[in-house]
Amino acid sequence: MKTTRTCFALFAVGLLVACATGPETASAPEPKYSALIVDGQSNHRIWPITSGYLKGYLEETGLFTVGVATTPPAGESLESYRPPFSDYDLVVSNYNGEPWGEGAMADFDAFVGGGGAFVSVHAANNAFPEWTAYNEMIGIGGWGDRTERHGPYVRLRDGEFVHDNTPGIGGSHGIRHEFAIEIRDTNHPITRGLPETWMHANDELYDGLRGPAKNLHVLATAFSTIESEGTGEHEPILMTIQYQQGRIFHTTLGHALVSQRCKGFVTTFQRGAEWAVTGEVTQPVPEDFPTATEVRTRPDPDEGQSPAG
Ligand code: ZN
Repeated sequence: MKTTRTCFALFAVGLLVACATGPETASAPEPKYSALIVDGQSNHRIWPITSGYLKGYLEETGLFTVGVATTPPAGESLESYRPPFSDYDLVVSNYNGEPWGEGAMADFDAFVGGGGAFVSVHAANNAFPEWTAYNEMIGIGGWGDRTERHGPYVRLRDGEFVHDNTPGIGGSHGIRHEFAIEIRDTNHPITRGLPETWMHANDELYDGLRGPAKNLHVLATAFSTIESEGTGEHEPILMTIQYQQGRIFHTTLGHALVSQRCKGFVTTFQRGAEWAVTGEVTQPVPEDFPTATEVRTRPDPDEGQSPAG
């Protein structure tokens, strides 16, 4: 009997130890996917902070482990910059700088074309104006002397998105302000379940983007008012693009820190990233998503010490 009790006691201690150490592994399965953020140069000087935001947003989904590949600073050779894209499921660009070397460009083209996932955030669509494959991946972009030479504008006419080949510059924005996002496809995995209209935090409303716009699907627009020095057009804000075998999610949102702390920015970025990898979205829409009348942002994690930018 004594022996049995001792054995039981040891067994019970073993259970307690197992319970004490168990939950960590039980409640946090390994993320299924790997993501790589590319950054290193941008006219948006806050890029190191926004890369941190984007990394955190991906990690909190529980779906992604996240690496960052940072280029040398502007003015230095980028020939040595050769991230192993093919080791990842997803590449997120927070980069708006000098062209990468031929090797990295060829690797990235092969990665996305071969079925890799890509997410372009805000000024990433300003980058690489003369890289044909990149312009096809982002669908439409701005600045960098983009003109009709790069492709049409995408315009909403009679409920349909059409190509407008009117000559003119590609890319501008009016005065920064809070604006309403209107979902144009409520059945897409990224946008399904979101309010059809929701208020976005203070941001640049990119307008007049242009590019090849091949296999481009507009998920959401925002109306660029003349009063805000915009175009008087419903501008594409959230888009998907199919590039060969690769899925791309393109958000034009995210100029400032507060723009990227908008809960609408966060949710659409997280859902867009998952969709780009899998073609589906498993994440629920958060209860505190912005509404048609109310902007909702996350608190500033560095309250009181935000740099300008
Ligand atoms: Zn900006």
